[in-house]
Amino acid sequence: MRILFVAAEVAPFAKTGGLADVALALPRALASLGVEVLVVMPKHRSVAGKTDLHEAARFAVPVAGQLKDCVAYRGVLPECSVPIYFLGNDPYFDRPAIYGEGSEYPDALERFTFLSRGALELCEALGWTPDIIHANDWHTALIPALVRSLGMSRSKEAKTILTIHNLAYQGAFPQSLAGAIGLSGKALEPYVRGDQVNLLRGGILSADLVNTVSPTYAKEILDAGDGLEGELRTRKDDLYGVLNGIDTAVWDPAHDPLLWTTYTRRNLAGKAKNKEGLQKELGMAEDPRAPLVGAISRLAEQKGFDLILPAFDRLLDLGVQFVVLGTGAPEYERFFRDAAERHRGRVGALITFSEEWAHRIEAAADIFLMPSRFEPCGLNQLYSLRYGTVPVVRATGGLRDTVVDVAHDKRRANGFAFETYTAEGMLDAVTRAVSLYRDDPRAWRDIQQRGMGQDLSWEGSAKTYRGLYRKLVR
Ligand code: ADP
Repeated sequence: MRILFVAAEVAPFAKTGGLADVALALPRALASLGVEVLVVMPKHRSVAGKTDLHEAARFAVPVAGQLKDCVAYRGVLPECSVPIYFLGNDPYFDRPAIYGEGSEYPDALERFTFLSRGALELCEALGWTPDIIHANDWHTALIPALVRSLGMSRSKEAKTILTIHNLAYQGAFPQSLAGAIGLSGKALEPYVRGDQVNLLRGGILSADLVNTVSPTYAKEILDAGDGLEGELRTRKDDLYGVLNGIDTAVWDPAHDPLLWTTYTRRNLAGKAKNKEGLQKELGMAEDPRAPLVGAISRLAEQKGFDLILPAFDRLLDLGVQFVVLGTGAPEYERFFRDAAERHRGRVGALITFSEEWAHRIEAAADIFLMPSRFEPCGLNQLYSLRYGTVPVVRATGGLRDTVVDVAHDKRRANGFAFETYTAEGMLDAVTRAVSLYRDDPRAWRDIQQRGMGQDLSWEGSAKTYRGLYRKLVR
């Protein structure tokens, strides 16, 4: 089976969030199951220097009624032999950011039409015939309609699957821009709603199969689907929820070169050393007994910051230290910078994007806070489990599927979860966590070790994807 996997970002070449992690790890896991995969992404500026690039093909891509030049470069995904093709068009992609600086680049529709159409042109240029084209999020949601309406020799028989990593981002543009995508008539129809083109809507209605990244989120979006619940309900029989895994080689406290000290499930002593290292480096009080709460996140409303901000002082009143790593909304960035000033020695704010600090915080923190309003899957709670950092989450989407509260099931418990999206609900869960941490170190260690012992790898989910592909080609 041959799979063409197309995404706007793929780690480590370009990353803003979970999509990039998935677009690296899933193709790799599929390849180790014996599936032939070829990955395609734009040649963003950040790709330079991350892999050897070999020019593989040159062709033209029709966008907005013009022919745009494309140079396709071949590379490989790290630590495997999966080929990745970078579609290069400097005016579109040689830019400082992936999606925009402050706000989205105004030619976003053209840029991702180029990617979607370009992926099909690449198959022609390489003489490579995919059985399945796996599209991801709105950026590539045009592919199902392009496959059918263009009837290109290499891709016309391909089946399509669209994975929704986050329904909140739909690729909605004024209808006046619809000319950019080069579809008309019946093929265009699903992509138009009211006076807008909505790429995700079109993808949901046009793909042979649709999935999202956790079973619970797949159910939730039938009722709260950011305006697309009606469309999703019409695809109910073809809509699946497949939980993301994590890259257990990159996220492994026993072999992580970014940590102060490595540690294992059996010997957690190194975890305390990481806490000490972080406290020192960030100028926080070097108190081994103060519960250290960590958060690593896009600073976006989705992630629950409108709960954290008003409750922040009460959170600190529990006697915790708090460290945050993130970038995003200016008001949240400002709040945490101020908080670090106001509470010197107790609050650390790293307002930046740093892979290194993400690993270090996962290792150093005792508690990981992730009170998302909604969460398609979430990766950081999984990294936390792997690092013995007990997650405190809101029970929604993938967080509900992966974190079992102590009060809910003692024998399976790996963290703390609260139901209603309120500051009180969150504070109550953190309070319960802090009490257990202080009063019952043994029970705490059990919870840590249970999380660390879970199989969070991609293997199971990659098999589920393979099952979906098989279903499609049958
Ligand atoms: P989302 O995709 O909605 O942002 P996920 O939890 O699925 O949320 O994935 C987020 C990914 O981005 C994780 O790998 C997380 O570690 C990473 N990440 C987010 N913000 C930062 C940051 N400031 N520095 C480093 N990594 C970050």
